[in-house]
Amino acid sequence: MHILAFTLIAVLAVSCSYSEKPANTETSALTVPDQQQEFIKPVEGFITQAFTDGHHAVDIANEDENGVGISSPILAVKDGTVTEVVTGVYDGGYGNNFTIDHGNGVQTFYAHCAEVYVAVGDTVSQGQVIATTGDTGRVFGATGIHLHFEMMVNGDKVNPFDYFGGAL
Ligand SMILES: [Zn+2]
Repeated sequence: MHILAFTLIAVLAVSCSYSEKPANTETSALTVPDQQQEFIKPVEGFITQAFTDGHHAVDIANEDENGVGISSPILAVKDGTVTEVVTGVYDGGYGNNFTIDHGNGVQTFYAHCAEVYVAVGDTVSQGQVIATTGDTGRVFGATGIHLHFEMMVNGDKVNPFDYFGGAL
């Protein structure tokens, strides 16, 4: 069921597109100075869409034992400060979304949320529940519920897999 759901979502996701600026593909040239705190996975679930030229993010979805998509808590991947929150609007397809600045040029972005529990200026701790996954904005699939997770280093969208090790 997981494989079937993954394939279905992956196929449907091909038509998913956001107006994003080009990602910096030379991630090996970038460094994250503060490596004292490892990143943690932002939400339970499985990867439904990887980082590609047309999708500068990683999508993670969760489902119940019957394969039905479910909303799950979103955790702060690292200590940080909330710098932007957008709710109640389509926002170019992102739906309810927010950004956390982790310092040292590193930011993370969370989209399609159902509930957002943080406000601009809030300090968050790694592992803190900051939102729940939802299907706001432009989503696809049986339920559409997933987290669209982006990571920026010095303003460039990078592949989170390059920084999370095996955590994702
Ligand atoms: Zn996405």
